[in-house]
Amino acid sequence: MPETREPAKAPASPTARYRPETRLVHSGTLRSEFGETSEGVFLTQGYVYDSAEQCEARFKGEDPGYIYSRYSNPTIGMFERRMIELEGAEAGRSTATGMAAVTTAMLAPLKAGDHVVAAKAMFGSCRYVIEDLLPRYGIESTLVDGLDLDQWQKAMRPNTRSCFLESPTNPTLDVLDIGAIAEITHQAGARLIVDNVFATPIWQSPLALGADVVVYSATKHIDGQGRCLGGMILGSEAFITEHLHTFLRQTGPSLSPFNAWVLLKGLETLALRVRAQTEAAAVIADVLARHPKISRLIYPGRADHPQAATVKKQMRAGSTLIGFEIKGGKAAAFRVLNALKIARISNNLGDAKSIVTHPATTTHQRLTPQARAELGIGEGFVRLSVGLEHRDDLIEDLHAALEKA
Ligand SMILES: *Cc1c(COP(=O)(O)O)cnc(C)c1O
Repeated sequence: MPETREPAKAPASPTARYRPETRLVHSGTLRSEFGETSEGVFLTQGYVYDSAEQCEARFKGEDPGYIYSRYSNPTIGMFERRMIELEGAEAGRSTATGMAAVTTAMLAPLKAGDHVVAAKAMFGSCRYVIEDLLPRYGIESTLVDGLDLDQWQKAMRPNTRSCFLESPTNPTLDVLDIGAIAEITHQAGARLIVDNVFATPIWQSPLALGADVVVYSATKHIDGQGRCLGGMILGSEAFITEHLHTFLRQTGPSLSPFNAWVLLKGLETLALRVRAQTEAAAVIADVLARHPKISRLIYPGRADHPQAATVKKQMRAGSTLIGFEIKGGKAAAFRVLNALKIARISNNLGDAKSIVTHPATTTHQRLTPQARAELGIGEGFVRLSVGLEHRDDLIEDLHAALEKA
């Protein structure tokens, strides 16, 4: 039988002291009586009990073990434990998607009359949750320019409970000062939730910078091979127990055990992939920055990034993503996208396959043209997620396509 333990209540494990690469391969592994090398996939909805007495004790919480896979499951528990140890968090819970993680982290601890503050540059669906959904339930929200600490300060109210930011931001790769925003948030008695998807746990540790909660779309770099969706919420034991435990159990945005298994396998190679993709992205960013058909290039690893000092302070390396504005607007950007042979037009990111996205007509099409302009998302703006192909092939592909701009 696998060891039965509730993922968020696991005792300090012997793997937690290893370096990230080792944790990515070994943390959280539970072995069944068969001694399998690779993590088992427990595709089971529920569990059987030896006796009615044991079943009663399990439900009372007196007998440790699994009850129902909406609550916990050995494969899901392994994924959660590995993420908890990677992030250095006290506790964490997985969800079916990144948006389930964001929605739960925002909604579960709040009630009508509360107030949230968020940086307005964020993933389109996150903005929907904060700007449209929460206010319908009486939770007011204020959106600020995340780079302007004064705006954060002024937005705080006595009833402010949560602040939310993404850094680097999607898709313009602004880098927000997590430590400074955490301080403002804490002075107001609120908690800071950071969406760390773009930085990945390899390059940035928001909890160590002062954030209270970290959320991930595991769909991106953590799977990294475009196979499945998943999400993760990490924070203190108190936050998870008090605010998420019952909410997740009763509302059920649970990760599938099969997806948890795919994500566990993704974690094993996460550091290798992110490092290789970042190294290639840095070289490609330098090449594109000199290209005559590109008017503006943003890459968090370059010295000309507008928040280069903040990047240095809080990130261990740049990014697997590059943002750039092609001269000639939408028509020119579309000609380039259509001419690319290796980088494919899609909206995923962090994938082994390079992906190009035109945010104005896809991920951010819901916003008004003014809102997009405010965020620096022009009609010629392109987001490139650099994959694992040979960087020279990608550079040749980009050069050939830019000829068509
Ligand atoms: C993709 C993404 C999400 C949502 O994740 P899903 O797994 O697609 O639900 C949230 N935040 C950021 C920054 C993302 O890129």
